[in-house]
Amino acid sequence: MPAQPIADPPGMSGNYWAATAAPLVPIPEFDASAKVETAVIGAGYTGLSAGLHLAERGRSVLVLDANEPGWGASGRNNGQVVAALKHEPHEIEARFGKERGSELIRVVGGGPDLVFGLIERYGIACDARRSGIITAAHSTASLSDLKRRVEIWVGRGAPLRMLSRAEAEAKSGTGFYAGACIDPRGGAINPLAYARGLARAVIEQGGAIRTKAHVRSVARKGGGWLLTLDRGTVEAERVIIATNAYTGDFWPGLKKTFLPARTPQLVSAPLSDNLRRAVLPDGEIMSDTRYLTVGVRMHADGRLHLGGGSGTAYGDRDALYRQLAEQSRILFPQLGELSWGYRWTGFMAMTPDRYPRLFELAPGVACVLGYRGRGICTATIFGRELARWAAGEAGIDELAMPASRFGALPYYPLRGLLVEGAVKYYTMRDRAAQRRALAAT
Ligand SMILES: Cc1cc2nc3c(=O)[nH]c(=O)nc-3n(C[C@H](O)[C@H](O)[C@H](O)COP(=O)(O)OP(=O)(O)OC[C@H]3O[C@@H](n4cnc5c(N)ncnc54)[C@H](O)[C@@H]3O)c2cc1C
Repeated sequence: MPAQPIADPPGMSGNYWAATAAPLVPIPEFDASAKVETAVIGAGYTGLSAGLHLAERGRSVLVLDANEPGWGASGRNNGQVVAALKHEPHEIEARFGKERGSELIRVVGGGPDLVFGLIERYGIACDARRSGIITAAHSTASLSDLKRRVEIWVGRGAPLRMLSRAEAEAKSGTGFYAGACIDPRGGAINPLAYARGLARAVIEQGGAIRTKAHVRSVARKGGGWLLTLDRGTVEAERVIIATNAYTGDFWPGLKKTFLPARTPQLVSAPLSDNLRRAVLPDGEIMSDTRYLTVGVRMHADGRLHLGGGSGTAYGDRDALYRQLAEQSRILFPQLGELSWGYRWTGFMAMTPDRYPRLFELAPGVACVLGYRGRGICTATIFGRELARWAAGEAGIDELAMPASRFGALPYYPLRGLLVEGAVKYYTMRDRAAQRRALAAT
């Protein structure tokens, strides 16, 4: 049986972010019924950004989390702040049309400004550094794609540039890649500390958050909505659903609109001074063009952090980490055999076309999900967009991304086999491309 993300596993044990982020401000557990203008289900970036942007407007908002702020993917990711969806600008325009597509590209391009701007405005201590993000090409074909990406973004005024193979090697510490591009708009954060900082900001701005607030159902009541929790109910005029990959059964069919995929993160023991300077010495973070993307960053305490590189819809298991650890030997053989101090997994919500989904599920109920591995900026953006909708400033069709038609994936019951099969298939494809690239050097 595939794992159920929301039931999997409670707590943040083994998570480097939980060991290093400042503690969450005191937030009460949900223990009494309430009535609000907008109820938000889920306190990751989507829900917290929605809550914050509503609270900033002086609107009444209550954010409910079954666990606590940042417990989901927002506290488990790689911390790469990326100004992009999974698609290139020309593909976005082809999909959504010139006008809506270019608006979406503009908004997504502004994602790092929004994230780093909130961090600055609310004094969020999350080791934020806007040091740029390197995307490295694992094959000659992907190098051509990167060149095209850079041309397109530069044509739209974004400051991306290509790095030759030698430059990429000098900047990253690995000679594995055929070349790379660098986007100075991006950077790195401690993602859990960012989520906790957003939670503090929501409360400071007059919004409310409750932990241990597992919403079991959402039903109509009069002109509004009634949320039923284990220890009471919440009445709201509008409901924002922000549960992404951790969506359970409270809204029929919602969890079947994407495939949940568990991916691993590994953080090494501190490296010696000369070894730590051998990886990403200028402080950038890096990801690559492989389908099973590998994210790399070096922490200030000298720990190497790898993420991605494998996945499953099933339980947490050693093989996920073995496959990822192999990447340290492939990318950075000069580091020798590493010992790993932290390891954990988190669920991404995978949509078949790799675009997020914005749903108006019923009058007064909206949801965004499906960010795959690009949620720090996009979830913060779409939380803000949903706040505009909940405040009555914009209709669902006036938000940055066109709404999607709601419907379960017909093959959802096969998600375990599909995710396993896709991981095997793309591992083979990535390896074949790597072999060709190595043979060409
Ligand atoms: C391993 C990993 C690495 C990633 N790396 C990156 C990266 O480097 N850069 C990047 O941009 N993105 C990355 N992502 C993606 C990014 O983390 C997510 O897209 C983003 O955090 C989603 O935020 P969210 O608020 O929508 O959902 P989440 O943060 O998952 O929050 C959902 C919340 O909903 C709550 N919830 C669920 N059901 C209920 C219920 N019934 N009642 C109440 N609460 C409920 C959960 O407790 C949870 O706290 C990564 C994701 C993973 C898993």
